[in-house]
Amino acid sequence: MFAAIKDKIFADLGLEDVNAGLYDGDWVSTDGRSTLDVISPINGEKLAAVALAGEDDYNIVIEKAWQSYQVWSKIPAPQRGSIIREIGDEISKYKETLGLLVSLEVGKTRVEGMGEVQEMIDIGDFAVGLSRQLYGVTIASERPNHRLYEQWHPYGVVGVITAFNFPCAVWSWNALIAAVIGNVVVWKPSPNASLTAIATNRICSRVLERHGLPPIFFLMVDEGRTLGEKLAKDVHVPLLSFTGSIRTGRQVAQNVASRLGRSILELGGNNAAIVSDKVDMEIALRGVAFGAMATAGQRCTSTRRLILHEGIYDEFVEKLTNIYKKVKVGNPLEEGVLVGPLINQRAVDAYRAAIQRAVDEGGTVLCGDEVVQPAGCEDGFYVRPTLIEGSPSMGIVCEETFAPILYVLKYSTLDEALQIHNGVMQGLSSSIFTTDLRESEAFLSLHGSDCGLANVNTGTAGAEIGGAFGGEKETGGGRESGSDAWKAYARRQTVTINYGDTLPLAQGVRFDV
Ligand code: NAD
Repeated sequence: MFAAIKDKIFADLGLEDVNAGLYDGDWVSTDGRSTLDVISPINGEKLAAVALAGEDDYNIVIEKAWQSYQVWSKIPAPQRGSIIREIGDEISKYKETLGLLVSLEVGKTRVEGMGEVQEMIDIGDFAVGLSRQLYGVTIASERPNHRLYEQWHPYGVVGVITAFNFPCAVWSWNALIAAVIGNVVVWKPSPNASLTAIATNRICSRVLERHGLPPIFFLMVDEGRTLGEKLAKDVHVPLLSFTGSIRTGRQVAQNVASRLGRSILELGGNNAAIVSDKVDMEIALRGVAFGAMATAGQRCTSTRRLILHEGIYDEFVEKLTNIYKKVKVGNPLEEGVLVGPLINQRAVDAYRAAIQRAVDEGGTVLCGDEVVQPAGCEDGFYVRPTLIEGSPSMGIVCEETFAPILYVLKYSTLDEALQIHNGVMQGLSSSIFTTDLRESEAFLSLHGSDCGLANVNTGTAGAEIGGAFGGEKETGGGRESGSDAWKAYARRQTVTINYGDTLPLAQGVRFDV
């Protein structure tokens, strides 16, 4: 099955044994370049190799991107929108194969792989609508015969650095919105998801080529940090959007800030679900199970802490443990499998180390704690989702481990639950399961959840593109995707026009020369 799917994907998406990892308007020859092996986490098999972009390529890409900007930014926004519409249509044609490539390369289940591509199509639709909605406000001027208003211009070249776990959707949140505003995008994907990046960039760039337009989606695959660091330090990249871990994000933020550039930071989370004693148990169990186990716990929004009311604690833990024990872990291409592999051996090691540390810190493993080798996928990177009874004071509970580990904590009052909830440094997603209006409103009040995303009777994972996405505290404060998040990709200009025949000054200041 694996080989047949791989052959179909490669034929459909035009992938080869060795693929160019550099697009500077052309797919640059792979000859003489060092390469990176792309390993599937499903079975440890080498899928292909990617020829890497190097430091010498960097300046050429940035220079060409600025050249493209001169053309692209001058096209009226609704016309740019119609190009984005075609890009969305083109992505739709490849939904199945691109979705399967996501599964092969990062181990998502089939529906999650397709869902990722659907998210690109959805954000494309959003960007098309936005192309006729790039509005500024008009403000009443204090001076007679004056007009005061705001307008939004593109920045120019926008850098986008992405994490492995959303190998194309996160790029599209940034790239399609940035592009419709008139920016040109330079993408540095995760080396763990470079084939998906290459296939995605090809699909999108072909539409521009068809119209005789210059390239607006540039791509550079590196071994990890070299080109990302260059983007962060480069004054020719006025805006850098970074998605990844807090550790890397901290370096990126410092590098961008030291040159007074702008960044959008989408970093790690440590998301919690509070489950009240006044709860629809079925909904809460499903919401927590999906939040904690989907994508093998490798979502930035994965539920990592479960804060349970003492009144339902035993019943909930028993039911959740039964679900955990039943859930099928294995080849994500197979029907019925809900939990696929982790991305690589390092992630498996981090899973084991986190469990060990939790036990050392006083936690009790309720189920899981097992590395598994499904038949036919013995060289993949599979672990069983793990439940650990613990306390909020344990150090490991305050950290994000990118694996399906859920810490179960007990509370007696809502105030206590909120204190536990907000007692970590990350602030991405949050949820409460309750049928009590007073509790849900308290959770949403200014003294409630301190996260960028707050959910009631639905889990921490699985956001829609219509809302602004992002988190507070060490999650970085960035916002992407829907609502008015587009404003982060545009520079604001406040305009004052005097259409009178005198020169009145603001605040009544006189300067009679
Ligand atoms: P990572 O931090 O290891 O890598 C992210 C990206 O940074 C990669 O492209 C990597 O090559 C690049 N990079 C590495 N060193 C760099 C440097 N010095 N300068 C610039 N770029 C550098 O993260 P990962 O393991 O790929 O992804 C998982 C992490 O991403 C998790 O912490 C997860 O929570 C987070 N994430 C956050 C969001 C969000 O929207 N908040 C979404 C997805 C993932």
